Amino acid sequence: MVGTVGDLRAVVRALPRPLGLVPTMGALHDGHLSLVRAAKKECAAVVVSVFVNPLQFGPGEDLDAYPRDLDADMEVLAAHNVDCVFAPDAAEFTPPHRLTTVKVAEISELLEGASRPGHFDGVTTVVAKLFSAAGPDRAYFGTKDYQQFAVIRRMVGDLDFGIDIVGCPIVRAGDGLALSSRNAYLSPRQRQDALALWRSLSTVQRQWSGDADAARVTLRTTLERAPGVRTDYAEIADPDTLQPLAGRVTGPAQALVAAYVGTTRLIDNVRLDPWGRSPDP
Ligand code: AMP
Repeated sequence: MVGTVGDLRAVVRALPRPLGLVPTMGALHDGHLSLVRAAKKECAAVVVSVFVNPLQFGPGEDLDAYPRDLDADMEVLAAHNVDCVFAPDAAEFTPPHRLTTVKVAEISELLEGASRPGHFDGVTTVVAKLFSAAGPDRAYFGTKDYQQFAVIRRMVGDLDFGIDIVGCPIVRAGDGLALSSRNAYLSPRQRQDALALWRSLSTVQRQWSGDADAARVTLRTTLERAPGVRTDYAEIADPDTLQPLAGRVTGPAQALVAAYVGTTRLIDNVRLDPWGRSPDP
């Protein structure tokens, strides 16, 4: 495990190429590990970062409560034979006197960006720092955080990072709930209520006929009627720009939801395409 950018660069210099990077906030579950497995399969060496990024949490969000267990994470990453774990200290990696922010306009301002102002600026600034420190050939992201994946892909294109951004499918529990570190906050009752996110998305995916307005109504009403759930947004959007779609859609679309179950905010999404079900971006 290394904790400083200098040490990471020294380790990376000796690693074979192509190098894969898997950025995480730790409290690792099978969703994270699916990214590690994909990276191991496609790369000669893999670096995993474990960093609870303070810049992506807004005031009043769960930065302090966010689950942390570096010892358990190190154990599971050792079992997966990753070549290096980068776990920097927050005060050192994201010092308060920083003057530079990486901001992707438009696509980071709606949906998650509208509900969590500044969230994606925190994400892109720290992911850009991780890219600069590790210098990977490929970086692996889950489409569980679909908008994050789209924003980072855009940043890498706009800034010519020369890194392949690989989007990996969402790993779900047997009943459909998307795995998330925040699921640890849910009581057994709330864990049941949380299934409404997947239920609303899978209903829309099953019924998808290319009518974005009808799909949006179905998505919203299914979610809003569910007990114990407070909808934040439920949208049918363009998969690249994240702009809401209207009327008849001939290309692919993304259905995205965010909802509170108790005080826990959960997100999920599915791809809608003209040929029926397809989990991949
Ligand atoms: P996080 O630790 O929540 O920041 O997530 C780190 C990476 O793991 C992000 O790219 C997430 O999209 C991805 N991830 C989290 N949960 C899942 C999941 N259930 N399936 C696939 N990828 C996931």
